[in-house]
Amino acid sequence: MCIFCKIVKGEIPNQTILEDENFLAFNDINPARKIHVLIIPKEHYDSFDVVPPKIMAAMTEFMHKVASKLGIRESGYRLITNIGDDGGQEVHHLHFHMIGGEPVGRLVR
Ligand code: IMP
Repeated sequence: MCIFCKIVKGEIPNQTILEDENFLAFNDINPARKIHVLIIPKEHYDSFDVVPPKIMAAMTEFMHKVASKLGIRESGYRLITNIGDDGGQEVHHLHFHMIGGEPVGRLVR
C-alpha cells in the first residue's frame, strides 16, 4: 500500500489541516516554505494524469477551502503537482503541493 494510502487509513500520523469524506490536506513532512501542505484524494489515483475530471472538480473546491483555512487566498500561493518520472514525482498517489505564507518566487521565466 502506498504511503499516502497509509496516511488516509491512519496507519501513519499526519498534521491535518482539513479533511472531508473524499479529500485530506496535511502538512508536508519536509516543508519547502513557511506553508507547505499536501492535498490528496482519499481514493488512490497514481497521478493527475489519470484522475477523472469529476474528481478534480471536487478537489478544486476542496483546495479553495484549504487555502481559505490557511488564510492565503489574498496573499497568493503556488500549487504544484508532479507527474511521473520526468515530473519528479516521488509518491505515486495524486497530490498537490500548496506552498505559500511568503513570496515563493518565479518558477517559470
Ligand atoms: P512528490 O515529489 O511530488 O511526489 O512529493 C512527495 C512529497 O511527500 C514530498 O514533498 C515529501 O516531503 C512528502 N512526504 C513524504 N512522506 C510524507 C509523510 O509521511 N508525511 C508528509 N509528507 C510526506
